Amino acid sequence: MKSRVSYNQNEYALGLPGDDIELCKLGIIGFPSDDNSSYLRGAANAPPLVREAFFSASSNLWSESGTDLGQPHIFFDAGDVTATAGREIMTVIEESIGTLLAHSLRPLSLGGDHSITYPILRALSKRYPSLSLLYLDAHPDLYDEFNGNKYSHACSCARIMEEKLVKRLVQVGIRTTNGHQREQAARFGVEICEMKDWRDNLEFGFDTPIYISIDLDGLDPAYAPGVSHREPGGLSTRQVINLIHKVNQPIVGADIVEFNPRRDLHGITAMVCAKLLKEISVKILEGD
Ligand code: MN
Ligand code: MN
Repeated sequence: MKSRVSYNQNEYALGLPGDDIELCKLGIIGFPSDDNSSYLRGAANAPPLVREAFFSASSNLWSESGTDLGQPHIFFDAGDVTATAGREIMTVIEESIGTLLAHSLRPLSLGGDHSITYPILRALSKRYPSLSLLYLDAHPDLYDEFNGNKYSHACSCARIMEEKLVKRLVQVGIRTTNGHQREQAARFGVEICEMKDWRDNLEFGFDTPIYISIDLDGLDPAYAPGVSHREPGGLSTRQVINLIHKVNQPIVGADIVEFNPRRDLHGITAMVCAKLLKEISVKILEGD
């Protein structure tokens, strides 16, 4: 099989050195790309810092529900993947996720900016024709194009819905929708749970497997300051964790994107990424 996934085990790689890819359940992969960011660069520096925070001695590897993520055969860390000369990053991302899926790994992707979710879902939709996307973000990312770029991080959901890669798109944390994006949401049937209408007991009634995409700016900047677009009035870390715990369908994969270390304060946002990665990982394992 043609593999574009490099096994780049370093001191902060998730998983145990030499663990067997065929026995592992979760495939960690970093996409250090911020070329499709519209405002600030820096998200490309995130993946190694999330791995480092994951192993920080300030916490441990147990989930809140009591699972030890330090056991063998959980994580296979494929390292960080970038475009090589002459190849489009979108193609490389889609093929890399396809490779993890071919090894029966559930992909957990570390961004990078939010443009990576579209090629990830192109790969996943081939394996899961009926999928719901739970999308946490301050922004609906529904622009038809942004500054002339159809693959901008502000356009991910427009591309996903145009190609019908998911059956349902449910967005939470949203608080920046403009007129164009409202039209796009209506056109594609996007279910936007606007932040102004947030209630802790929201029920989504998912009836298919779920993919979770977490843009860190969906959280309030008080909880996650390390983002390019700090939009006040967002979710708390606790609300996001509870949202993850509440998912009632199998989770086929997830991404954590838009962490911009250049904007972080004392590593706060890196720890939020690590915490969410921990809770999502266990939720995937428990759903099997
Ligand atoms: Mn986004
Ligand atoms: Mn956003």
